[in-house]
Amino acid sequence: MAKHITIPKNFMTIFIVTFFMSNALATTLLPPNDIADRFHNDSETIKIASSDFGHIVQEIPAAVFYPNSIDDIASLVKYAYNNSVPINVAARGQAHSTWGQSLARDGVVVNMTSLENRLNGSGIIVSSDSSLGSYADVGGEQLWIDVLNTTLQYGLSPVSWVDYLYLTVGGTLSNAGISGQSFRFGPQISNVYELDVITGKGEFVTCSPKENSELYYAVLGGLGQFGIITRARIALEPAPKRVKWLRLFYSDFSAFTRDQESLISKNERRDNKALNYLEGMLLLNQGPQDLSFYPVSAYARINSLVTKYGIIYCLEAAKYYYDDRESRVEKELLDLLKGNLGFLPDFMFEKDVTYMEFLNRVRSSELFLRSKGQWEVPHPWLNLFVPESRILDFNSGVLKNIILKQKIPAGIVLIYPMNRNKWDYKMSVVIPDEDVFYVVSMLHSSGFNKWEAYDNQNKEILQFCDGAGIKVKPYLGHYETQEEWINHFGSKWESFRARKALFDPKMILSPGQRIFNNNWGV
Ligand code: FAD
Repeated sequence: MAKHITIPKNFMTIFIVTFFMSNALATTLLPPNDIADRFHNDSETIKIASSDFGHIVQEIPAAVFYPNSIDDIASLVKYAYNNSVPINVAARGQAHSTWGQSLARDGVVVNMTSLENRLNGSGIIVSSDSSLGSYADVGGEQLWIDVLNTTLQYGLSPVSWVDYLYLTVGGTLSNAGISGQSFRFGPQISNVYELDVITGKGEFVTCSPKENSELYYAVLGGLGQFGIITRARIALEPAPKRVKWLRLFYSDFSAFTRDQESLISKNERRDNKALNYLEGMLLLNQGPQDLSFYPVSAYARINSLVTKYGIIYCLEAAKYYYDDRESRVEKELLDLLKGNLGFLPDFMFEKDVTYMEFLNRVRSSELFLRSKGQWEVPHPWLNLFVPESRILDFNSGVLKNIILKQKIPAGIVLIYPMNRNKWDYKMSVVIPDEDVFYVVSMLHSSGFNKWEAYDNQNKEILQFCDGAGIKVKPYLGHYETQEEWINHFGSKWESFRARKALFDPKMILSPGQRIFNNNWGV
């Protein structure tokens, strides 16, 4: 059972000792004096650290730790590791997880953003050298929006992104970090040269493909299981100035996926003629659409198209350009699209925006939803990687027969392909075993009493895939038993488990993932 405790703030040290004594076996260990005042357990702090963006799972921690330095985190983890009853520790970036992954029942949640304050602006340092070119050394607690703002001051930018930039570097690198750039540049984890990590024993280790490589590969996509990322060295390239941004509508799913796959087949990093970004989304006949991208004059015909077909598939592509290359980029785009694509001819929409406007495109939706009180609501999300060979079956079985038919307003549904060769098999993340696979993101928002309907639908989708032999892999997923995790990791499970034994032998890190220390339902 999770516990509520009320203890005067000033007795934090006593609280920690008392709590863990009452919680399990007696302990004589005090948190070291130099970090004792970093623990907080006032009710407001505990409440915030008990929940996440999903607003579905609640786990009450014993305390929240506000580090002033990386040494503080190392001291905390050492203390947690050496305690006679090991203490669970969860790094918390922005808690943008949706199923409790950054929570720690009865343990200590590390508020990573408190590091941002102590760094006095030194959390992002841009450098270059002859072997790597340009790169940024970035604190694990930093937000991608801040990485972008800082690197742009040097005319530079990371190449692989997430759709929403108010996520932390440590949080996305613990998953993969995917967006429309992944088909060409790989996920964010494929663009990291080096990491500083505090392992589950409290050891500070620098790792890279050449140095302590086992830890490097474990941590990237490692769901926070092997260490806390305190620094990542991120690859940078010259920053584009502007972006041609296109949306093309399809009523025919096979034409939509054929065109997406054809466009991502041109994917060399250095091929300036390739697209920089490709995604896709559904427009569903299930209530009002977000049409803010399109000219107002097109609203009526878009709505009648969606009403006519029930589902419209929208291919979204972008091409970056520098200074005065607008006419050239127009031509390159036309060359790419010319003649071969099967979109509905009157349904091609185009925008020309700054690079910042493009990358930060989700922010305006966030602010809008916040203003309507619709941001801090349950998010029963389901993100899946679907093998390319079964994407047509997925369309008929899931998109048409479950999502469209059940008429529970689906919100945003993204669907776009990626190339497997841009991912590194040695990293912890699991993807389907095909050269091309799709990400399908069902980003539902619901009322506080209504998320179960989505959860049931999510379960139905997984059951359908299982029954139909569609070997999907959840991304940002959650499971209720270790057997399900073993099945998820498949042939990677043994190395995942062995790495856990090596780097976090007492299994104290990121308990909210419920892979090793599952006390769910106890
Ligand atoms: P948290 O939720 O705080 O943490 C996630 C996990 O990582 C936890 O297990 C935590 O313990 C661990 N962790 C956190 N920091 C560290 C660290 N420094 N070292 C080690 N472990 C750590 N993901 C994509 O890939 N692409 C997208 O386009 C995308 N868009 C999103 C849009 C929105 C609006 C939201 C809410 C999420 C989106 N995500 C996307 C998902 C996002 O990547 C995950 O939620 C991720 O966990 C990042 O969130 P966070 O930084 O708040 O991490």
